[in-house]
Amino acid sequence: MAELSALQQPYYEATTLQQIEQLFPVRLSKELLSDFKFDHPVLKQYLPDARELINPDGYGEDPVGDREATSAGGLLKKYQHRALLITTNTCPVHCRYCFRKDYPYSRETPNQHRYETALAAVKKDHSLNEIILSGGDPLSLDDDLLSYLFTSLAAIEHIQTVRVHTKFPSIYPQRVTDALLSILATTRLNTVVVLHINHPDEITASVKYAAEQIKHTNTTTLNQAVLLRDVNDATDTLAELSHRLFSAGILPYYLHLLDKARGTHHFHVERARAEIIMQQLKQRLPGYLVPKLAQELSGHASKDY
Ligand SMILES: *Cc1c(COP(=O)(O)O)cnc(C)c1O
Repeated sequence: MAELSALQQPYYEATTLQQIEQLFPVRLSKELLSDFKFDHPVLKQYLPDARELINPDGYGEDPVGDREATSAGGLLKKYQHRALLITTNTCPVHCRYCFRKDYPYSRETPNQHRYETALAAVKKDHSLNEIILSGGDPLSLDDDLLSYLFTSLAAIEHIQTVRVHTKFPSIYPQRVTDALLSILATTRLNTVVVLHINHPDEITASVKYAAEQIKHTNTTTLNQAVLLRDVNDATDTLAELSHRLFSAGILPYYLHLLDKARGTHHFHVERARAEIIMQQLKQRLPGYLVPKLAQELSGHASKDY
């Protein structure tokens, strides 16, 4: 990106940046670049870093065992009663700590034909009652395609709930269009939107407004954060995050320990430290504002917490 290479930061030497870009392209919004200074914790989530080229033992391409859990059409089933659809390979920003940066996305393009395969599998599996639209970011889809997915899922009798895992409302709040709100408001399904906000400063007035609009469609709005070194690994920051989420009508859901994806070790926070932070959060916050500390391990029957 021109904006980045023009900056003479130690981490952005041209060849290093090129190497990083080849492994996982940089993607962030103009707004983020103008709203935050370069050393702001919010931007650290999206700016390339030379440390991405270093991979200690244990850091790899499929940290949570997604590949073996994926079936035809991009449906991932790891847990009972719920399955996750990789709707698309596209996200509004590239979080440098992404655990799906190496997911074999080439097949998972956003098209109706592929979804038909996944939907047929959902229809056949009567143990399922909830489908999670994930990705990539499902709000990368246009509203017509989203509407098709919601309508198709609502037509499957045993499905009760559709959950959307998205970062869009906090990155481009204008993505929360009237058409999207109408999809959420009119479906017969229970609707849950799980946002991904890691730092209190990400909750601007327009993000708050977008979240409130979603909530007004009778959608349960939750947040999953990732505990990231030098971004949000402080009790004060996480307590403030919970309070600001709550002011926007969002409840904290999970605080994930980092998945050991390739090139992410510099974000790692030890579990022991995470537990100390959690202890402090429990003392400081009402129970409903304390996220669950969660870790996903390959082959486990649920997230662990
Ligand atoms: C995280 C995840 C879910 C959702 O788990 P919950 O504990 O219900 O939030 C479902 N399927 C897959 C494949 C997941 O990775």
